[in-house]
Amino acid sequence: MPVTDQAFVTLATSDVYGLGALVLGHSLRHHRTSRQLVILITPQVSSSIRTVLDNVFDEVIEVNGLDSGDTAHLALMKRPDLGITFTKLQCWTLIQYSKCVFLDADTLVLCNVDELFDREEFSAAPDPGWPDCFNTGVFVFRPSLQTYGRLLQFAGVHGSFDGGDQGLLNSFFHNWAVKDIDKHLPFLYNLNTSSTYTYLPAFRQFGHEAKIVHFLGAVKPWSYKYNPQSRNAYQELDSPTGHHDPQFVNLWWKVYSSCVVPAVMKHEEVKLSN
Ligand code: UDP
Ligand code: MN
Repeated sequence: MPVTDQAFVTLATSDVYGLGALVLGHSLRHHRTSRQLVILITPQVSSSIRTVLDNVFDEVIEVNGLDSGDTAHLALMKRPDLGITFTKLQCWTLIQYSKCVFLDADTLVLCNVDELFDREEFSAAPDPGWPDCFNTGVFVFRPSLQTYGRLLQFAGVHGSFDGGDQGLLNSFFHNWAVKDIDKHLPFLYNLNTSSTYTYLPAFRQFGHEAKIVHFLGAVKPWSYKYNPQSRNAYQELDSPTGHHDPQFVNLWWKVYSSCVVPAVMKHEEVKLSN
C-alpha cells in the first residue's frame, strides 16, 4: 500500500543534477518504494528535464535558490558550488508530509530502503572524512515550519563552518555524535563510493551489504564517458580524476542509459515534431 504522508526528497538546481535525480528516482521505483518521491528544483532547471522529472517523481516543486552567501568558507573548501545546498533546507517546508528521507541527487539506491522511515529526526550516517559529523547526503527528518525558521535563524547567526548545509546541520543537531545511537544510520545507507580505496578490507567484508551509495566529491558519475558495448564508464585523460569504485559508476550508467536517456530523447523528439 502506498504511504502518502511520507516521502523521499531530493534536490536539483541544474539539469545535470536533474539527471542524477532521475537515476536516483528510477532506482527507488525499481526497488518498489511505497513512499512518495519528491524533488525540489530551482528555476534554472530546463522545461525538458522538468517534464521528464514529472514522469518519475510524484511531486516536482519549484523553490527559489537559497545561497549561504558565505563565499569565504566555500572558497576554503574549493567548492564554490556548495552554497546552493542551503537550498536543501527548504525540504523542511514540505509540511504535507509527516516524515521524509532526504537523498542527494548523487546517490543511488541498491535495494528497498523504506525501513529508513522507522527512524526519527535527525538520523544520518557518519561522514567518512570526520565520522563525528554526519554526512548530509542521506538523512531522516520531519518537515516543520518551526524547525525551518529556527534553521534559517541559526544560519544567520552562526553561519556554517564549511559554508554548506552539512556544516550548518551538524552545528544545529550538535549532539548527534554522542546522544542517541538510534539516530546513527549505518554507513551502508550512505556508502561513499571511494571507500573501496580508503578501507579496502572493510569494503571486501561489508561492501556487498551496501544499500545506498553516494558519489561524494567534485567528480560525479555524469562527468564520466560511457562505452555502451563494454558497459564501462571511463574518464577522459585530461579530466579531473575521481576515485569512485567502477562497479558503482557502471551501475549508475546502466540505469542512466537504459531509463533516463530514452526518456529525455523521447521528450526532445516530441518537442521537435511539434
Ligand atoms: N546540488 C544541486 N546543484 C548543485 C550542487 C548541489 O542541486 O550545483 C544538490 C544535489 O542534490 C546534490 C546536493 O545538493 O546532490 C549536494 O551537493 P553534492 O552532492 O555535489 O555535494 P557532495 O555530496 O559531493 O559533498
Ligand atoms: Mn552528494
